[in-house]
Order: sequence, then C-alpha cells, then structure tokens
Amino acid sequence: MLLPGSTLGMLGGGQLGRMFTIAARNMGYEVVVLDPDPDSPAGMLASDHLCADYLDIPALQYLGETCDAVTTEFENVPAESLEYLARHCEVRPGAHAVTLTQDRISEKTFLHDNGFATAPFAVIRDPADLDAAARQVTTPAILKIARFGYDGKGQYPIASSEELADAWQELGNNPCVLEQRVTLDMEISVLVARGSNGESRCYPVAENIHRHGILDVSVVPARIDTVLEQQVLRSATGIAAALDYVGVLAVEFFVSHGDLLVNEIAPRPHNSGHYTLDATLTSQFEQQVRAVCGLPPGDPRLLCPVVMINLLGDLWQGQTPPDWGKLFARPNAKLHLYGKREARAGRKMGHYNVLAPTLDEALHTAQEIQQQLADTESRDT
Ligand code: ATP
Ligand code: MG
Repeated sequence: MLLPGSTLGMLGGGQLGRMFTIAARNMGYEVVVLDPDPDSPAGMLASDHLCADYLDIPALQYLGETCDAVTTEFENVPAESLEYLARHCEVRPGAHAVTLTQDRISEKTFLHDNGFATAPFAVIRDPADLDAAARQVTTPAILKIARFGYDGKGQYPIASSEELADAWQELGNNPCVLEQRVTLDMEISVLVARGSNGESRCYPVAENIHRHGILDVSVVPARIDTVLEQQVLRSATGIAAALDYVGVLAVEFFVSHGDLLVNEIAPRPHNSGHYTLDATLTSQFEQQVRAVCGLPPGDPRLLCPVVMINLLGDLWQGQTPPDWGKLFARPNAKLHLYGKREARAGRKMGHYNVLAPTLDEALHTAQEIQQQLADTESRDT
C-alpha cells in the first residue's frame, strides 16, 4: 500500500490527468506528470512536470526512479514506455490492458473472444479484406480507423458497400474495422474499479447523449430497468476480470433493440464519469488514486441525481468565455474548467454538474444553463 507522501507518475497531462492530480495532491501524494505540452492542464498543477515525449528515455528513467507507481490518462501511451517503467515501479493498469485498448481490432477481438457482444464487425488490414468485410457487415456501416481515433475522428459512414474502397483510402489504407451501424435505443456507460486482489466496485450507470460524435450530456442514474442495469454491471465486471485489470476502467455500451452491445473500453477514468466529482461518495479520480496505490476501493454510491454537461470550445467567442455568472447564479451547479489556454471548436474546455432532488429537475436546470451559456446576445448586455 502506498500511503500519502508517496509519489505517483501520470502519463499524459490532459484534463483527466489534471483531475487525477487534484485528487492525489488533495490526499497528500506528490504527482509527476509526463506530457510534451508545456501548457498541459495537469502539468500546471503537478508537483513536477516533465515536458518531454512519451518515448524520451531520460524522462522515463526519471519517472521510474522518482515514482512509487505510474498510471495513465490516455490509452495511446506507447507500449514500450509502459514496459520500460514496469521494470522500475508499479504500472497500473498494466501495459497489456492499455495496449489492447489502443487498437480497435485487438479490443473488439478480445471482447468477441470473451463472449461480450459488440456490433457486428469485420477487420480490414489489406485490400484483399475489403470484399469479405463488405459481405460480412451489412450497410449502413461505419469504417473506423483501428488506432488513434477519438471523439468520432477517423470514422467514415458507409451507406453502401461500393463506397468502402474509397473510404478506406481516405483513412490512408490503415488497419480499420468496418462496423455495422446499429439502431441506438440509448448509449450508456459504466466505470468499474478493480484492485489487485480482484475486488471490483461498479459506479452507477450513466446515460449518454452525444452531439456530432462527442459526448454532450450524461444523465445519472441512467433511465434503464434493473434487468439491463444488472447486465451492464455483470458485463463491466467480467471485462475487468478478463483483462486482469487493476485501476479504473470505463465501458461504453449501445442499447440496440433492447440488446446490450459493448462499444468500447477505456483503461482510465472517463468523460462520462465526471459526474462522480460532485455526486458520488468517491470520485473516479480518487478511485484511480486508490487503485494505483493499492488501497481498498472507495464507496462509489450515488448521493443525488446528477446531470453532467460538457463545455466545448465552440461556446467561446474567439477566446472570450461564456458568461459564467449565469451558471454561478444556480446554487446546485458545479463548474469544472481544465485551464486550457486556447478555445477551439470541439475542444473539451470543461464541464458542469447539476445536482437536484429529482433527475427531471437536474436535467431541466442543466439544459437551461446550457441555453444561457450559448446565448451570445445576452452576453453583450
Ligand atoms: P470517443 O472518443 O468518445 O470514445 P470514438 O472516436 O472512439 O469516440 P466511437 O465511440 O466509436 O468513437 O463512436 C462515437 C459515437 O458514434 C458513438 O458514441 C455513437 O454515438 C456513434 N457510433 C459509433 N459506432 C456506432 C455504431 N456501430 N452504430 C451506431 N452508432 C455508432
Ligand atoms: Mg467512444
């Protein structure tokens, strides 16, 4: 067990790393962040920021020597860096789980082989795979690049199989999965924390609404029946166990014609779990600290219905932020900003949580705030 005073390493310095850093420092740990961005949101709050590439050997060496344990906030950390660090300190989650989720092909193959249902898919690695994929997966479908896609990037809608070859070329003839577009009743996600002794704790299920391929709103608890809820919790716990996972794992699902399909898994806290910062007994970031340090998991119980809304750079007028006064006028709204210098369209700048005695009330207030923040006219007055 690593106790306060120990030093934790964080690979990646974005908002997830920042909220981990806040939780860890609050609990009395030192945090060293590795991120090549000098303005990294986590780096600016860390005890120490190594501004270097993820493959930089002197930086990795320093991390390995200084830190008692290392974790990550994004799945694209090179496997060789994790393996290097694992020779010097605890790395949680391990390289195996992180690298598996880096690639949609290995991720979906793992899910399929372990009996977790996904949308029907086929793998495309070379031109000879195109015909078989077109036969296997009915259209409409989505062609997704296997690596480095996020927020809907690296995806092509395929209306009919004749479009497949061109779309594959558009994605640079890189390894891809062709995935059937399923009818969505709802999108949901869940976080599971798993310790090295195999003890798992699931958070409440979140219901997620996306806009232009980016998470917009999470509603918690998800408006699903207990049968589906139990299925979700069983599935997430099963996936974490099959990966022999240590840490916080997020699992995203589609509900399609009542069936539960796994969309993807993330070896870290997740945007759809930001509601835990204000609405659960233990936040997902405290939970990550606990897991990394080998402490028992904290209680993930929901204290109050909650709605989380993402704040994208689109809300900024140039670099002028929206009128936060509108948000602070609500006593039950909690603002979280990530300290990013530059606002850009589609860039996640922050989020807010609205807590209320009923979900309807939380949703109503959250949406009113969303409209007020987007209302540019009232901003000038
Ligand atoms: P993120 O960064 O949010 O994880 P991503 O780039 O990995 O996103 P996906 O999770 O694959 O992208 O897809 C983004 C969104 O697109 C999904 O949340 C869903 O709304 C929609 N989508 C993706 N695949 C399918 C599908 N097979 N059928 C229906 N909708 C889909
Ligand atoms: Mg996704």
